[in-house]
Formats: sequence, C-alpha cells, structure tokens
Amino acid sequence: MLVTGGAGYIGSHTALQLVEAGHHVVVLDNLCAGHRWAVPGRAAFERGDIADRERVKRIITDHRIDAVIHFAGHVVVSESVENPRKYHRNNVVGSLNLLEVCLDLGVDRLVFSSSAAVYGIPPRSPVSEDATTAPINPYGSGKLMTEWLLRDLAAATNGGFRFVALRYFNVAGARADGSLGQATPRATHLIKVACEAACGVRDGMSLYGDDYPTPDGTCIRDYIHVEDLAGAHLDALDYLDRGGDSIAVNCGYGRGHSVREVIDCVKAVSGADFPVTIAPRRAGDPPELVADNALIRQRFGWNPRYNDLTTICRTAYRWEQALGNKSR
Ligand code: NAD
Repeated sequence: MLVTGGAGYIGSHTALQLVEAGHHVVVLDNLCAGHRWAVPGRAAFERGDIADRERVKRIITDHRIDAVIHFAGHVVVSESVENPRKYHRNNVVGSLNLLEVCLDLGVDRLVFSSSAAVYGIPPRSPVSEDATTAPINPYGSGKLMTEWLLRDLAAATNGGFRFVALRYFNVAGARADGSLGQATPRATHLIKVACEAACGVRDGMSLYGDDYPTPDGTCIRDYIHVEDLAGAHLDALDYLDRGGDSIAVNCGYGRGHSVREVIDCVKAVSGADFPVTIAPRRAGDPPELVADNALIRQRFGWNPRYNDLTTICRTAYRWEQALGNKSR
C-alpha cells in the first residue's frame, strides 16, 4: 500500500492500522505539515512530494504497490480562501499527477480523503451522498474537483481502475493508548483547539456565533473518532478488493453535537476551565452539518467503535498533554 500524507494526522492512524493488519506500507510525505515520528516503525518512509512524478513512479515500481490511499494535501479552509493557487496546485494538480502515475503503472485501486466540504451549505441535515454538491471555498471545490478527476479517469478505464472517495465529517480524537494523535500545526479544528486551551497551550478560545437556529444557538457538527475513520479506509480497501464499484461515501456517525456541548465536554474531561470568547459568526458556517451514514454501513459493513463524544474528547485531551513532550 502507498499511503500519501501518512505522516499527518489521519494518515498516520491509518498507516498504523494497515501495518497491524499485516500490510506492507510505504508512506510518502513531504513533511510540510506531518511528522517523521508519526510514521509507524514498521512502515517504509519516503520523504517526497506527490508532484514529483519520477519519485512516485520509482516508489510504485520498487515496492510493487497495488493500492494507494491518498491523504496528502493542504487542510486549512481559511488559508484556501486567501491562497487558492496553493490549494489547487497541491490538492488538485498534485492529485492528478499521482493519479496519472497510478494509471500508467497499472495501480487499479485508490482511496481518497474527500470532505463534507463538498456539500457547502446543504439544504438538509443529515446530508446524504446524493445531495447537491456546492462547495463554498477553494478547499471544498478542490476536493470536489479531485472526486471528478477520479470519476472521469476511472470511467475511461471501464472498471480497470476503481476508487472510493471518503467524505469525512469532523475528525477528532486520538489513539486510545495515547501513542498517536493530531499534531497538525496551526490546527483550527474545534476539539483540538479546546484541548490546547485546556492544556494552557493557548490562553482561551473563540466560539464563532451563538445565535444560530439550533437548541443552544451554536453550530452542530458530526464528530468522528480518528480510529473509526482509519478503520473505514481498511473497509474501503476490502470493498474494492471484493470488486466494489467506484463510489463516494460519507464518513460520520450520523449524530450531531453543538460547539457548546463540545467545549463543556473538553472542560469536563480535563477538569480545566478556560475562557471562551463569543465572536461573530464566520462566513459560510452552516448551522448544522451531520452525515447520513446509511451508505457506508450498508456497502462496507462499517461498524464504528468510538461513537461517543466523551471518548473522543478524553483521547484528544490525553494526547494533547503527551504532545507537550514532542514537537508540535
Ligand atoms: P495533516 O495536515 O495532518 O496531513 C496531511 C499530510 O499530507 C501532512 O503530513 C503533509 O505533510 C502531507 N502533504 C501535504 N502536501 C503534500 C505533498 N504535496 N506531498 C506529500 N505530502 C504532502 O491533515 P489531516 O487532518 O490528516 O488530513 C488528511 C487528509 O484528510 C487531507 O487530504 C484532508 O483534506 C482530509 N480531511 C481532513 C479532515 C479533518 O477533519 N482533519 C476532514 C476532511 C478531510
């Protein structure tokens, strides 16, 4: 297996589950946001860029790669608005480069990290895969463009090349034994930020908007534990091995929690009280974004094990404490 971006948050958890399942794993990561220490000891590591066509060719040939899990990309939505060229070059053009090499060398299965950002502001929540895709920022449009690249290129092979695009909702949490978690620099993810505030890494945090049409006025999101998400990648590979058709599927629990609920939960598991400043709404934040996950359960038999907000926040907080001893 080639795991691009396997030194990053979700990629490193997935790479670890893959080696534990007995796969031969090669991680390709340029370490622009990832960490060498996050790559499992039993995986081969290549420091390099998905845009480096010769390098990717050599890796696929030397390691006789037969499937790719493609995580590599830039991930900060606000930065994509300020610098769309950077995002489209890396996330779209970089993905096309990788795909072309895969097709040229006969790699016929790929799992892609897509995002709920492809839906933009969905008219309905829970949102299912057949909802209109209407991204509202370059990060989301880049994910959708890459899904379309995959779809078009796969169609031209008449089933020779197949893919799964996993549309992640809000990923959070850490490995239960505290050995691995999120170390993304300048992360903007709510649970990560709240845990940093609980650990005193930041003085407090902002809550963007408390006047939404939701029960407590704050936005509702579907938080998925990173270990369940990593497991979904192994399930996706199994699905492709069984001959499954190319497909885009939601990855979420189908249950939402408000920002206030999350902050209260982090305060409860950490025992720390930190200041929370109410700030104006951010442009483009839908009041509620929750996955309809019927498709992933039905097609992959996906069976999440950490579907509980307290577990997510507890593992994330424990990891944030341990991270103080590593590089952030
Ligand atoms: P991350 O920043 O921790 O991981 C991304 C990894 O890709 C990093 O290790 C980085 O060094 C590497 N990388 C970036 N560009 C590269 C390139 N050109 N060549 C080689 N390596 C490169 O982020 P993450 O949260 O683990 O996200 C992984 C994937 O999941 C991304 O594609 C992201 O868009 C997607 N995703 C994440 C979330 C989330 O909530 N974290 C939600 C939806 C989708």
